[in-house]
Amino acid sequence: MRSTAVKAKSRSYQHSTEMLAGLRAGLGAGCAARGLQGHRLAHSRTTEKLQREYDAVVIGAGHNGLVAAAYLQQAGLRTAVLEKRHVLGGAAVTEEIVPGFKFSRASYLLSLLRPQIYTELELQRHGLRVLPRDPYSFTPLLEDRSPPRSLLMGHDMAQTQRQIAQFSQKDAQAYPKYEVFMGRLVSAINPLLDAPPADTAALGRGSLLQRLRALWPLLQAGLALGRQLPHFYEILDHWFESEPLKATLATDAVIGAMSSPHTPGGGYVLLHHVMGELEGRRGAWGYVAGGMGALSQAIARAAAANGAHIFTEQAVCRVLLGSDGQAQGVVMQDGTEVRSKAVLSNASPQLTFLELTPQEQLPEDFVRRIQQLDTRSPVTKINVAVDRLPSFLAAPNTCDSQPLPHHCCSIHLNCEGTHLLHQAYTEAAHGHPSSRPMIELCIPSALDPGLAPPGCHVVSLFTQYTPYELAGGQPWDEKARNAYADTVFDCIEAYAPGFKASVIGRDILTPPDLERIFGLPGGNIFHGGMSLDQLYFTRPAPSYSTYQSPVPGLYLCGSGAHPGGGVMGAAGRNAAQVVLRDFRRLRWQR
Ligand SMILES: Cc1cc2nc3c(=O)[nH]c(=O)nc-3n(C[C@H](O)[C@H](O)[C@H](O)COP(=O)(O)OP(=O)(O)OC[C@H]3O[C@@H](n4cnc5c(N)ncnc54)[C@H](O)[C@@H]3O)c2cc1C
Repeated sequence: MRSTAVKAKSRSYQHSTEMLAGLRAGLGAGCAARGLQGHRLAHSRTTEKLQREYDAVVIGAGHNGLVAAAYLQQAGLRTAVLEKRHVLGGAAVTEEIVPGFKFSRASYLLSLLRPQIYTELELQRHGLRVLPRDPYSFTPLLEDRSPPRSLLMGHDMAQTQRQIAQFSQKDAQAYPKYEVFMGRLVSAINPLLDAPPADTAALGRGSLLQRLRALWPLLQAGLALGRQLPHFYEILDHWFESEPLKATLATDAVIGAMSSPHTPGGGYVLLHHVMGELEGRRGAWGYVAGGMGALSQAIARAAAANGAHIFTEQAVCRVLLGSDGQAQGVVMQDGTEVRSKAVLSNASPQLTFLELTPQEQLPEDFVRRIQQLDTRSPVTKINVAVDRLPSFLAAPNTCDSQPLPHHCCSIHLNCEGTHLLHQAYTEAAHGHPSSRPMIELCIPSALDPGLAPPGCHVVSLFTQYTPYELAGGQPWDEKARNAYADTVFDCIEAYAPGFKASVIGRDILTPPDLERIFGLPGGNIFHGGMSLDQLYFTRPAPSYSTYQSPVPGLYLCGSGAHPGGGVMGAAGRNAAQVVLRDFRRLRWQR
């Protein structure tokens, strides 16, 4: 854990530190960085219940692993989930990094979770509560005028158009048409998400009609997308002229990607980020009450209610293979063998195939492909505990310090123009953390006050661009980590004076930290880039995009498989379908 309490300097810092000490005393020393509730559920399934044999074992309790387990157990397969961390959820966790402050430590917003998973797993009944946001996007500007302008966007189209009109009448008129256009693209992609990609190997077999049927969803999507996709930046340029609007929209096209808004192909990442829905509203993002870990908890409860066994602090060190090369279970770090007919790995393809599977069992070209997957990632996440709400020059707080609508938004800083994002990217491409990073600042406690002590808040800073390797081989040590966080805080201070003095503690997660703590290769938030050459048929590798692997009985069920990253649950659900189909086939053959 990398939790850096900031040294007390100003009066309010001292106040903060005293409060922190009080909180610490009240909570007990063991509270820091504890995954909330994760233990509780895990403790109800203690190690003595870990059986020697299951029908299916899932490596990793990321949300996808939990979704897969829930579906398998629901279908009657005796299923165990083995998670190496002390907390369930993978990158969808709530952790108390600073005592009393509950952070969605990695992912922080929900939209992409497939709608059928809510209903089929009865997640509401198992405790999931989502807090929608409207308005949802706020881009304050740094300008000489007083007050500076800002762009506030929400679901009320007329109001959003009035906001855009501050910058361009033409853009305000174009915006509703752009939304319809995006809606059409999303509808084209949607059917591809909830089933395995067409099996390229099987396409060579079967009648022409069968082959066409298998390819039909892809053909439909291709026709609807047309030639627009690879040139998304030009599309933004084609639709709009005002830079704050273009930069705000472009953030979705570069999120998690080591690319600039000018890099062709960013359109898919953007589509990926607008294809979700919340309470029937396309493209809406909301907070999970209790933080993202509460979603993982709800899925775990759904799985456990049907009888799945879920364990934390159980690291798998190897997939167990029979003499016929078939997966037969897993070997734990302490040497314990847990046997199963199917093994599903929620870990990244790199961990699964380069560390957990005996290499001699894998085709060389497959191993090479996995080694060469693009895992570059620009993201540094900083979780901050503050003792008051930030007050932005463009929208100052009221005297009662109550949250205002923009405090509930994704607050985009350094987004005055796409040239800033490009500049930030270029620095990182040369090995230097951006001097003016792209920052998405969220304050979940503005809608969910229980996340922080009274009057205090949790602030999530999703920032890019930071390289995995620093120029000149410099290490990402404490000094480098703090220097970058200070740069980010200086930027926020310019938009919201007083922010730095409000900080109680911070948790800085650079790409190597994300890799070490969460097992994300290269720190990549999606288990691997979402570029066109690593999607659908080719995710993670050509001929192995249908969750199966070169090892019979070993399946992938996480973000490294189709349809990729984000808190979607689709990979877990689709993988479970494939496993169940294979089980049925085996039973039928016997
Ligand atoms: C900083 C950050 C911010 C993000 N923000 C958002 C967001 O706001 N919204 C959104 O939708 N998405 C977001 N994402 C992306 C999203 O969180 C991930 O794509 C998604 O959570 C991955 O889920 P998963 O279940 O596929 O894998 P993971 O969550 O990576 O789970 C894999 C699990 O396997 C475990 N594991 C690995 N090896 C072993 C082993 N040997 N033995 C046992 N267990 C093992 C790991 O500990 C982990 O728990 C973000 C990601 C990051 C990192």
